[in-house]
Amino acid sequence: MTGGFATRQVQAGFRAGTPAFGAVPPLHQTAAYEFSSLQEAADLFALRRPGIIYSRNASPTQQLLEERVTSLEGGVSAVAVASGQAAVAVTLLALAGRGGHIVAADQLYGGTVDLLQDTFADFGIPVTFVDQDDPDAWRAAITPQTRAVFAEVVANPIAQVLDLRLVADIAHEAGVPLVIDSTVGTPALIRPGEHGADFVVHSATKFLAGHGTSLGGVVVDQGTFDFGAEPERWPQFTAPYTRFGDLVLWERFGQGFAFAALVKSKYVHDLGPSLSPFNAWQILQGIETLDLRVARQSSSALAIARHLEQHPAVARVHHPGLAGNPWHDLAARYLPHGIPSVFSFDIAGPEPEATDRIARLIDELRVFRLVANLGDARSLIAHPASMTHSHLTPAQRAAAGISLNTVRLSTGIEDPADLIADLDRALTIIGESSRTEPEPQLARA
Ligand SMILES: *Cc1c(COP(=O)(O)O)cnc(C)c1O
Repeated sequence: MTGGFATRQVQAGFRAGTPAFGAVPPLHQTAAYEFSSLQEAADLFALRRPGIIYSRNASPTQQLLEERVTSLEGGVSAVAVASGQAAVAVTLLALAGRGGHIVAADQLYGGTVDLLQDTFADFGIPVTFVDQDDPDAWRAAITPQTRAVFAEVVANPIAQVLDLRLVADIAHEAGVPLVIDSTVGTPALIRPGEHGADFVVHSATKFLAGHGTSLGGVVVDQGTFDFGAEPERWPQFTAPYTRFGDLVLWERFGQGFAFAALVKSKYVHDLGPSLSPFNAWQILQGIETLDLRVARQSSSALAIARHLEQHPAVARVHHPGLAGNPWHDLAARYLPHGIPSVFSFDIAGPEPEATDRIARLIDELRVFRLVANLGDARSLIAHPASMTHSHLTPAQRAAAGISLNTVRLSTGIEDPADLIADLDRALTIIGESSRTEPEPQLARA
């Protein structure tokens, strides 16, 4: 549908037809769908006509979610799956095909690193990791076998902003699509398709849902990548596919739709990471308020970052909205509507004692919650070195820009004054305890 972003986040994809549909999208909680005739069943199984067979591949509630996210991202089609992790996996499996290689940013969500480094290695899919700020590293890593370039639009916990257009141009020069995980960005702040991304992936669990009740993931095809330009590279789309009765997906579905057809009818069908209709329905409820939440969260996060910058117990704040941050210019260019509300800061004081002091800080907080999630309506705190990044060596941690002193925040929609007061009080307590610590020793000496 047409209309502004806020209109589409509430209405896109929903066509109220009969009174049974109600005013709000219905939840189709059924595993399978009845066919009107055997002929209809045969046509659906042969992909000769669109329709729903079984909820492993699709449900009407899921399709509505797919249409809505497609609209918000300005894409052409989408596939919704059980989690963000599943969305990244099926997207890269479909592009890599047999013998494909992937180039990915160093700065990625920990679960994605596990998938690419461990499980994809088991599958025989090699992945080269590069520093996302280094254009020469991207260029050097791409080989004739590369089938996807992958990065996050804003990584966490350090909030590095990707130079999307630069990386898109490098990928396209090599004839490779750019896949962007925009979970932290959200289409309310940035639509990577407008800057050259060909596929946009989300953990819908996070900002899209926003309520922290349901896992889900989505990949949107922007319809920009032409698999037909070099057909020998992409046989999964351009050659007759035996399992689909020698159908050529590229001819049958075309640009912008062949990818979704392959992901659904092969990867989701075979591996089974299906989105529950109930979770699809829950995520749809969340999306209706996406831009309202994200606007509040972004402005609160920037206010918190500015406050923390002045706090004596804080050594450094990693927020690209602050002048002097290494990604400040990229943020100004790509995120004029607001900077994502997931960022981090380093507490002051020596690194060896930092974990104990951060444990104390977390104990003192009354509003921020210790939760391994982000993009929730609630404000969340995490200690990457003990949680998401605990499997990294100190050298790998340093390369990721974090130390034992680093604390990650995901800013919620509570009153910003309460969030600042909560952090301020807890930081003052740990700051004072560190300043008064030497005194008893002096007294003893
Ligand atoms: C959480 C997250 C994922 C994985 O999503 P799940 O829904 O938890 O499977 C992928 N990428 C990013 C950036 C995330 O934050």
